[in-house]
Amino acid sequence: MADNLLYCYHCRSYHPREEMRQIDTKGGKRWRCIKSIEATKRSAAEREAFGRQMTAMNKAEAQSKARILNGQT
Ligand SMILES: [Zn+2]
Repeated sequence: MADNLLYCYHCRSYHPREEMRQIDTKGGKRWRCIKSIEATKRSAAEREAFGRQMTAMNKAEAQSKARILNGQT
């Protein structure tokens, strides 16, 4: 094992030192690769964007239903 490798608790494997970030966890300081941190951030942002989109769609649908119920078009 090369000595610039650090254990990534997220992937449960080793990555080069320069691809790692030390982060605070409940269990203390751990090393995690930037790739997995970015992937998590991205997917969180995507979920958020998706949630916003759904909310907007639901609102628009509710409004159009309300218009129909009120006899307005
Ligand atoms: Zn990793």
